[in-house]
Amino acid sequence: MEKGVCELCKRQPVDLTIHHLIPKEEGGRFSDTAQICIPCHKQVHFLYTNAELATLYPTVDSLKHAPEMKKFISWLRKQPATSLPRMKKSNRLKRRRK
Ligand SMILES: [Zn+2]
Ligand SMILES: [Zn+2]
Repeated sequence: MEKGVCELCKRQPVDLTIHHLIPKEEGGRFSDTAQICIPCHKQVHFLYTNAELATLYPTVDSLKHAPEMKKFISWLRKQPATSLPRMKKSNRLKRRRK
């Protein structure tokens, strides 16, 4: 895995994953990607559905300023870059699952 700076929480060096800002299922192009760390990436998908990501948060900047992400990022920034915090799915999305 590639190491670098997470575009969301700015911690470094962290293992980077590719996030499709507009999920492929919602017609995203291959260029619309961000390199973010594993906890940020998990959180993004825990909080939002692909449809919400495509319509509400199609850029790194809009994600960064999403109220729930803002809270998460300010917390994550205090965690060491090497830690993989344990996270739970939000109840909202859990309920929605079939
Ligand atoms: Zn991050
Ligand atoms: Zn993603």
